[in-house]
Amino acid sequence: MIIPIKTVGVIGAGHMGSGIAQVCSLAGFNVQLNDLSEERISAGLACIQANIERQVSKRVISEADRQAALERIQPARTYDDLSSCDIVIEAATENEEVKRKIFTSLCPSLHRDALIATNTSSISITRLAAFTDRPERFIGIHFTNPVPMMQLVELIRGIVTDDATYVAANEFIHKLGKTSTAAEDFPGFIVHRILLPMINEAIYTLYEGVGSVGAIDTAMRLGANHPMGPLQLADFIGLDTCLSIMQGIYEGLADSKYRPCPLLVKYVEAGWLGRKSSRGFYDYRGEKPAPTR
Ligand code: NAD
Repeated sequence: MIIPIKTVGVIGAGHMGSGIAQVCSLAGFNVQLNDLSEERISAGLACIQANIERQVSKRVISEADRQAALERIQPARTYDDLSSCDIVIEAATENEEVKRKIFTSLCPSLHRDALIATNTSSISITRLAAFTDRPERFIGIHFTNPVPMMQLVELIRGIVTDDATYVAANEFIHKLGKTSTAAEDFPGFIVHRILLPMINEAIYTLYEGVGSVGAIDTAMRLGANHPMGPLQLADFIGLDTCLSIMQGIYEGLADSKYRPCPLLVKYVEAGWLGRKSSRGFYDYRGEKPAPTR
């Protein structure tokens, strides 16, 4: 039986979890936010508060909506605090062992009909579902970063996910004001499967000397109408993240066409991870980003 979703649990109050909690509370759902410690929950709540306040100052939401949204989010210090949740969305650190422990400890606290979702970017939904006592009510809900801004949510069924779960998750996404797209449970789902090989190919184009950083980015901005060049985008995502997603697709599909470019590996080895470390395909330490090749 699928029950109507009123209360949402979010596990992980980091970058994605706090964004998910924010959009859920603004959409009128009660939210229980969990993380490893009181400090991390508070940091997540502070981040949500700051984001919502920015929306008030931009007149995107009213002061009354701000107040009501913040009141709807409660800290969940233990999994028992998630017992009233109709769906729990796991958005904890991307590590299979971490997620396995969460699902095995969480299930006994949930009511029988509650759905469980994961926001994982790279771990098999079917494998994670097998760590729970309800694989048929388990689904991948892959939000896009930053959650409050981005419209897309990929919905991924595991092999065992039943139709009622898919329908309930889809309706839930719709109520958040987001657009869902169905993806099968294969590495990278849809967005990463297409985006990262394109970025990797741009890095091969640089590695082989076909074009400079500036030439490649200009070519794709003006020739393919992309809002950002692929190397600029790689720096924005983080080169370590790009490498780990590419490795996941390469290993998961066992196809050499997805092998990460050796130049990407070198940049990561050098600690040039893009914007977050001030250097990547561009150097961000000066007034204007300057190409590093
Ligand atoms: P993050 O590092 O910002 O946050 C992860 C949070 O999980 C941390 O606050 C950490 O304390 C918490 N955590 C770790 N173990 C926990 C446990 N046992 N119980 C409760 N909380 C725990 O990471 P993030 O970027 O928010 O990513 C979270 C998930 O979302 C990952 O699965 C990631 O693959 C996925 N995702 C990330 C992005 C992105 O662009 N960052 C996009 C889509 C999906």
